[in-house]
Amino acid sequence: MKKLKLKNKKMIILVGVIVLIIILFSGLLFYSYMSLNLKINGKEVEKVEVNTKFKDKGAKASIFGKKLDVYTFGKVNNKKLGTYKITYKAKYLFLSKRKTRKVKVVDTKAPEITLNGNSEVSLSLGDDYKEEGYTVKDNYDKKLDNKVKVSSNIDKNKEGSYEVVYEVKDSSSNKSTVKRKVNVVKKEAVNNNSNSKVGTYIKGILIVNKKYHLPASYNPGVDPTAGAALATLQNAAKGAGFNMPLLSGFRSYTRQTTLYNNYVKNYGEAKASTFSAKPGQSEHQSGLAFDVGELSDTYGETPAGRWLASNAHKYGFIIRYLKGKENITGYQYEPWHIRYVGREVAEDIYKRQVTLEEYLGV
Ligand SMILES: [Zn+2]
Repeated sequence: MKKLKLKNKKMIILVGVIVLIIILFSGLLFYSYMSLNLKINGKEVEKVEVNTKFKDKGAKASIFGKKLDVYTFGKVNNKKLGTYKITYKAKYLFLSKRKTRKVKVVDTKAPEITLNGNSEVSLSLGDDYKEEGYTVKDNYDKKLDNKVKVSSNIDKNKEGSYEVVYEVKDSSSNKSTVKRKVNVVKKEAVNNNSNSKVGTYIKGILIVNKKYHLPASYNPGVDPTAGAALATLQNAAKGAGFNMPLLSGFRSYTRQTTLYNNYVKNYGEAKASTFSAKPGQSEHQSGLAFDVGELSDTYGETPAGRWLASNAHKYGFIIRYLKGKENITGYQYEPWHIRYVGREVAEDIYKRQVTLEEYLGV
């Protein structure tokens, strides 16, 4: 009986010690696990634009102040939209921890629609509008050309300004809209058929100067395309903080006759001819020229004048009478006088910094 008791006691102590060891060991294990630090560098959910390189910022791990190696699993295919997982693993003895980063490959860039032909065209009353087409480029979707929705409100039987709207969405619903302006105008005002035109056209551009004249009968009024472009330019100027009033637009042959005769009376013919055109020689009779801003020699040095000089081409205009080119144009520098030639030509002339005469080789 006594022996048995003693044996029991030993057993109890043994079991107690084992339990204690287990508790201590689990505690140590738990403490170690809690001390194993694994931290993702950067965000746990990252977004990366499709077709751009994903730079993994990795993760760092440590235990009891000691740095540990981090093992990385998983790949991101940056050429394909989707959500990818990158797993980081840190190990210490038989303990390990994992953390996962989500990487979303997304497409946030809208497609680009490029119009064939001009973004502004003129149409004679009654003529059918001919669509010149477009191309679409996207950073992800291959073929979007056939997904473009084209709509328009053109009434070919009514003079006015209309729009053709091109709209396209890519597979990620990024939307792009481009517009083409269509001006339905009276037949004689259309500027792209040189056969029916009065005056001298070179490369499709009406040239009016001291050598190339317009007949007294040429009385087109303001060209609608040029007029619309002027309005766009004035709006853009306003957006940039400049007021750019129209001072003089279309002038008929008769009006120019009156003006010129008055100048001759006041300044004499030699002086008058340096700043005023003789009837038939004024670009204002073409309906394509405008005086804007301020009729001042120093206008070109004002912020507004400088803005005009460096932006007019974007709206299809050129500064017609440049400084230092008086012997070519036949006129003194006029920083306020702009002439509509269409965007492509205007941009070309602007880049080359030449006069219209030099550009056309006349
Ligand atoms: Zn002028």
